[in-house]
Amino acid sequence: MPQSGWGLLASDDLGDLSGNCELCGTELRYIFAIEHPTWGAMAVGTDCCDRLTMTTEASEYHDRYIKLVDMRKRFVGSSKWKQTPSGFFTIKRAGIAAFIFPNGDKFRVGFDGVEGKVDYDTLLDAKLRIFEFIESGEAATYLANRKKKLAERLRRKLGF
Ligand SMILES: [Zn+2]
Repeated sequence: MPQSGWGLLASDDLGDLSGNCELCGTELRYIFAIEHPTWGAMAVGTDCCDRLTMTTEASEYHDRYIKLVDMRKRFVGSSKWKQTPSGFFTIKRAGIAAFIFPNGDKFRVGFDGVEGKVDYDTLLDAKLRIFEFIESGEAATYLANRKKKLAERLRRKLGF
């Protein structure tokens, strides 16, 4: 087997120790797919991936991933969530005021007073979606675009 020339293809979280490193046999939860142009693909653990790719890609990715999972857990269970008398759940993160409200037996999310269009089955799903929206920057981009559109519309209406 070649000891160099490997490249990282993808990574996956199996959720538990249900995988094995195809190189050293270690039980794995976090698995990395690597590929060599003459050897083919292989699924390995973080250490073997770093060694064969001669990079720290896998361990850096792993650290970032673990941090994100931890942040997500803390966000969902945060004591900063407030419930209003009308049943809204609100929280402020990264300067954005996010909210969740019951819609029938489902939950809908919104940011800075703008209501979303998708319903989530559980309060947890709604909270996870808010985390994703804010962390990925999607929420900020959406709100900035919306503000720009509203300003343009107003400008057109006022004629300048
Ligand atoms: Zn290994």
